[in-house]
Amino acid sequence: MKITELLSSDKPTLSFEVFPPKTAQGYESVRSAALEIAKLRPSFMSVTFGAGGGSRSRFTLDISTEIQNETNVPALTHFTCVASTKEGVDEALAAMKERGLENVLALRGDLPKDMDSIPEGVPFRHANELTAYISERTDFCIGGACYPECHPEAANKKEDIANIRKKVEAGCGFLTTQMFFDNSIMYNYLYRLRDAGIEVPVCAGIMPITNIKQVETSRQLSGCIMPAKFTALVDRFGDDPKAMTQAGIAYATEQIIDLIANGVNHIHVYSMNKPSVAKAIRDNLSDIIVL
Ligand code: FAD
Repeated sequence: MKITELLSSDKPTLSFEVFPPKTAQGYESVRSAALEIAKLRPSFMSVTFGAGGGSRSRFTLDISTEIQNETNVPALTHFTCVASTKEGVDEALAAMKERGLENVLALRGDLPKDMDSIPEGVPFRHANELTAYISERTDFCIGGACYPECHPEAANKKEDIANIRKKVEAGCGFLTTQMFFDNSIMYNYLYRLRDAGIEVPVCAGIMPITNIKQVETSRQLSGCIMPAKFTALVDRFGDDPKAMTQAGIAYATEQIIDLIANGVNHIHVYSMNKPSVAKAIRDNLSDIIVL
């Protein structure tokens, strides 16, 4: 099923995300975690694309296929283009089609550490170019990433939103946000997107922080603001793994309930291959998001 069909109604949706293993040895444990999460019957599940491609890109396809075939939950397959050739993209699209995968999150990807700008002459400089390429060649449902606190490379929020518009004009049918911990930032961002004429559905990306290490990683990845209410929780419970897990899940749940109460109906949880976290969130929302 195409994800844009799921997002076209006002009924709340809940999706979870998993990431592929780094090596073949890790495959079985990721597969098992992904299927356990899929058994919670989320609206869809996304599978990230390992930076650098290689065998990890095959794992992204394999995990996506297993989720769909084993559980009937639609899979959203991520794909990054920063280091891709046109032939590589053609191959990946053909493999998706053959496996019945029809939803793709078209991303540029982060620049490799040894690269401070995108080299001239690469086939895909930005996600809008990948989106246009996929849209011209397939009838896949295409999504894109967006950044309530502005993408770190963008000169300013206005320019960043103008670039989101290019993605949508190229065929991106929905957006998923980078994680955020302060809902007012999301409400403000949605207002600015709509004001810029961007009307596609937006899934709010929520990261349940369940250990102290994730705090720094999240800050580095997204540069997101951590509100005082959140940092107080980390300060108080960060050294106690069980308490931190419970507090992180409660914080994420509260964020989601506030979002739904304010009309943001599509929630994407960065569940990080953790079935217990996905289940706790799912259980906390069982009568709020009825799937
Ligand atoms: P783009 O849309 O190309 O934007 C990158 C920067 O370029 C922005 O500053 C933007 O304002 C600017 N820009 C965009 N278009 C243009 C244009 N036409 N001309 C000039 N400037 C432009 N990374 C992974 O490696 N694997 C994943 O699976 C993955 N999944 C993600 C899922 C979500 C929901 C999010 C939010 C991020 C994900 N990322 C993933 C991280 C993402 O790859 C990085 O944030 C990356 O730096 C930007 O990717 P993008 O697709 O947003 O790029």
